[in-house]
Amino acid sequence: MPRYAYVNGAYLPHKEASVHIEDRGFQFADGVYEVIACIHGHLADERGHLDRLKRSLSEVGMKMPLPEETLRFIIRELLRRNRLQNAIVYMQVTRGSARRDFAFPAENTLQSLILTTWPFHYDNLPKMEKGVSVITVPDIRWKRRDIKTVALLPQVLAKQKAIEKGVHEAWMLDDEGYITEGSASNAWILTKEGLLLTRKADNDILRGVTRTAISKICMDLKIEMVEQSFTPAQSYEASEAFMSSASAVITPIVTIDGHNIGTGKPGDVTLRIYEEYRAYVEGLRGQQLRWSA
Ligand code: PLP
Repeated sequence: MPRYAYVNGAYLPHKEASVHIEDRGFQFADGVYEVIACIHGHLADERGHLDRLKRSLSEVGMKMPLPEETLRFIIRELLRRNRLQNAIVYMQVTRGSARRDFAFPAENTLQSLILTTWPFHYDNLPKMEKGVSVITVPDIRWKRRDIKTVALLPQVLAKQKAIEKGVHEAWMLDDEGYITEGSASNAWILTKEGLLLTRKADNDILRGVTRTAISKICMDLKIEMVEQSFTPAQSYEASEAFMSSASAVITPIVTIDGHNIGTGKPGDVTLRIYEEYRAYVEGLRGQQLRWSA
């Protein structure tokens, strides 16, 4: 069965899907993106991701390339054509294709919209059972990390450093030595006093949609979540740690810079939040998609 992608109005075999060499996403990283998990046919927090897409677009002076309803249809149609119930949906909007010039192109330039999906199985993940390790690296990004831009080179370099050190993720450090977030995830620790710390969502980090869901879950579970920056030294002393993102969901962290966290195994509070998150996505608010093969 061919795999399909969506490119500017057409569903194309993935192998043939491409954009023009003058696309501003390719030339300038002049674009934004979103990632949504589809878990057992439920699009996790679709509303939050579409809202953030609109916000990212508006912060860089772009508009939605299509009415929201059409985009929601395309997401479902692409999943249907690819026969996927458990998947990651990637969508990217750029300022379109035009002769290379830093200034914005003419107003009537068509924005590019591309979507891809790939299978991702969320059950029985080894990293949920064993947890993962992270290292800390300097955060060398720009000052608008709240925008989900495709300009991801600093994150690419951070993640590569992690891989070269044999670990899963890199937590980035601001100039004062506080952790901002992971290369593609938000960072969390549970202190020995039982406070769940994560950095305040200002321009220094991306306001994760999963992070927002976790903050609601914490209220239900009566876990005290505090928006507070923390240092690597504080994280080594934590009783639990985890990372969150649409694709990583909630992944327990068992070592940071080689220091064992808590018992060195995924923590109970982390696993509890993970279970609640899955229930939230699959039952409470997720909108189940149904189609026959
Ligand atoms: N922070 C960064 C830098 C990310 O790239 C991501 C996700 O890709 C996140 C945080 C988590 O955001 P979300 O939970 O909306 O996926």
